[in-house]
Amino acid sequence: MADVKKRALITGITGQDGGHLAKLLHSKGYDIFGIIRGQHNTRRQITEREFPYVTLIEADLVDQSSLIRAMQIAKPDEVYNLAAISHVGYSFKNPQLTSDVTGKGVLNMLEAVRLTDPDNKVRFYQASTSEMFGGLEYNRPEKGYDEDSSFHPRSPYGVAKLYGHWITTNYRESYNMFAVSGILFNHEGDRRGVEFVTRKITNAVARIKLGKQDHIELGDLWPKRDWGYAGDYVEGMWRMLQQDKPEDFVLATGETHSIEEFLTLAFKEIGIDDWKPYVKQNPAFMRPAEVDLLLGNPEKAERVLGWKRKVDFPGLVKLMVQHDLTIEETKI
Ligand code: GDP
Repeated sequence: MADVKKRALITGITGQDGGHLAKLLHSKGYDIFGIIRGQHNTRRQITEREFPYVTLIEADLVDQSSLIRAMQIAKPDEVYNLAAISHVGYSFKNPQLTSDVTGKGVLNMLEAVRLTDPDNKVRFYQASTSEMFGGLEYNRPEKGYDEDSSFHPRSPYGVAKLYGHWITTNYRESYNMFAVSGILFNHEGDRRGVEFVTRKITNAVARIKLGKQDHIELGDLWPKRDWGYAGDYVEGMWRMLQQDKPEDFVLATGETHSIEEFLTLAFKEIGIDDWKPYVKQNPAFMRPAEVDLLLGNPEKAERVLGWKRKVDFPGLVKLMVQHDLTIEETKI
């Protein structure tokens, strides 16, 4: 008898990680359902074209009844809660909306799972983030943040994500649900939005190379991040839900690099050694509170999940610049 296909429900299907995860689960033979928000979502057509194998369901993290309906339609074995207002800078400008979607939205999704799955069969993944640690000197372990490090979020986004993290833990402990959080450090790639610094840089570098733009405006260049490739990280998410017992995991590269280092490699990729004439600093891109340095320790994920990132830092910069050169070349 043929194996019954597993079913997955992904919130945030139109986002960076949703796309990578849909591809991964499709390659593993899953039936995939994706939650799409809004009456006229401009990304619907693009998503339908790229992922014809995903069934889209209209729902919203702030509307619990819509999430219950989505659960009833999808009847998933696994739920990946990737949807969020995910940009730190934006969260300072829209803190309440960020709390509702990125924080309370997790509770809405967990409740929808609990109410529709009385036998606790569904496995739930919450997208937690390194932004919960805050990067302050006093709570920075030498080998990087791990699953036991203390939290000190520095933005409305980080605070909302911390609520999502703890409510997931609470539902696991209160209701015996298989609910886990992946604490993922920054992960980038060809699907990253241009509002994030890596893609903003690689997109500008490609356009500078092609004579479409003459400079880029950025905020602070000294903050350091642990940057990995998103395609590697969705594999870790999936592995977390295949374990015997529900546990949280950090996914990171174990290396940290400044924005200045990212800029240097990106410009080198188009043959420019001195990037300074092409970069202007603009206070509009600075944040009311900055996360100085993020470094993750992926030891537990490597040991228990057998997960390891494949793409390294130079490989990531190269992949992103080359991708942007290709798409910018074909744009009119
Ligand atoms: P985050 O780590 O989730 O906040 O990811 P981002 O890619 O948005 O920002 C990474 C770092 O780049 C932060 O320290 C930002 O303050 C810094 N940064 C400097 N200039 C810019 C910019 O123009 N846009 C963004 N998004 N970040 C910038």
